[in-house]
Amino acid sequence: MKNQNHTMMQYFEWYLPNDANHWNRLVEESDHLKKIGINYVWLPPAYKGASGQNDVGYGVYDLYDLGEFDQKGSVPTKYGTKSEYLTAIDVLRKKNMKVIADIVLNHKMGADETEEVLAIQESWDDRNVNMSEAIPIKAWTKYTFPGRGDTYSSFKWNWTHFHGVDWDDNTSTASIYKFYGKHWDENVDKEKGNFDYLMGADIDLNNHDVVVELQNWGKWYLETTKVDGLRLDAVKHIRSEFFPEWISAVSDGNNQELFVVGEYWSANIDILNQYIEKSEGCMRLFDVPLHYNFYRAATSNGEFDMRTIFDETLVATNPQKAVTFVDNHDTELGQALESWIPDWFKPMAYALILLRKEGMPCVFYGDYYGIPEKDVVAKNEILDPILEARNLYAYGEQVDYFNDSNLIGFIRRGDFEHPDSGLAVVLTDTIGGTIKMNMGNDFSDCEFFDCTGNIEEIIVIDKEGNGEFKCKDGSVSIWRKK
Ligand code: CA
Repeated sequence: MKNQNHTMMQYFEWYLPNDANHWNRLVEESDHLKKIGINYVWLPPAYKGASGQNDVGYGVYDLYDLGEFDQKGSVPTKYGTKSEYLTAIDVLRKKNMKVIADIVLNHKMGADETEEVLAIQESWDDRNVNMSEAIPIKAWTKYTFPGRGDTYSSFKWNWTHFHGVDWDDNTSTASIYKFYGKHWDENVDKEKGNFDYLMGADIDLNNHDVVVELQNWGKWYLETTKVDGLRLDAVKHIRSEFFPEWISAVSDGNNQELFVVGEYWSANIDILNQYIEKSEGCMRLFDVPLHYNFYRAATSNGEFDMRTIFDETLVATNPQKAVTFVDNHDTELGQALESWIPDWFKPMAYALILLRKEGMPCVFYGDYYGIPEKDVVAKNEILDPILEARNLYAYGEQVDYFNDSNLIGFIRRGDFEHPDSGLAVVLTDTIGGTIKMNMGNDFSDCEFFDCTGNIEEIIVIDKEGNGEFKCKDGSVSIWRKK
């Protein structure tokens, strides 16, 4: 079998219908995903959240409830039942696609009972600044899981397993409450002084019982679901030593087999590379700086210098560790990290992640299938030719022609393993134009066409292997052998 480029799809977006039917949709769609070259599929958090069937999954209530127990108002999660989840994973794996599970270990939400706890109020903007003495609060921290009981685990959570919360039920006050005697973890992101706390009840990942319970859970999860990899949520809010230990524990030392990507939401490349070092290289990271470069390029009225599109990105500085993406469930309109790349720039951004050598690209469900809730149209017809170009033609040596601030291009010269492979890409954030690029002598006299359909003419490569490749205003053209 020929070597195929690896391509991920994030198979969910924030506003999917709460119809408990997503795992079934995935099964129905699996042949299509395979056909368009997706071989890694990132699935949403699959355990019961605080809002039951209405929870996207990040408000984790019970890590052991994959849509199996009558908790939080329903048996299924937003996406379906446990058996439907396991079936979907099995179907994908039998089609040689790897399944990536979304893992949320920073916090829990939707506790079963409250507890009286002594806590110190901290400043919202600087979590090292105390705003009160130790005061008694009523915290939602007791998790007894009455719907599940002791099935799979008899561990019950109480306030000693957490660092703090953001709600006092005695006074109905929203504030950051750090439990008396607890300390925020060091080696977390430095934003807000110390960004250990994100939301809900912040899990104390230094507590021995918690560490053991989460390792037991991780082993159970991998054994039960047979997923091939993990997407780790909110890693910047978790001490950097935690995951190397946890991954090694849950994979029984087979961590080379496990594909792991972390969500460290920072546009600062130094912070990302430092984290990769501190976490002992145990995970790849999403290329957040590249997302923001795309965002700036797409929202600067053509003033962005396209030669700098990969500057200060993970894919440029640490390509083996980069998972590149254009948008995700958090950058969608109305979401916490809203920074949605406008429609006109999407084809350019996808060409830049899908057709190059470096980085593992991730296609967003909301781009491919659309987001009806936000009137975002499906772009499958635009993305399919780019995906096809990736699967069949984006191979071999890569040469950049990043010489003009408005118009950039690059070529792939193809390889022997993939017949007729090789392509030439030209794009601009302003006025269209032409770049002369050299495909090599093997392509002398060949005819090239633009597989995006943006330009209809044929370009003939000259004796020296040069082609005058062009694109129209504010667009990308992808040229390959006819
Ligand atoms: Ca934390």
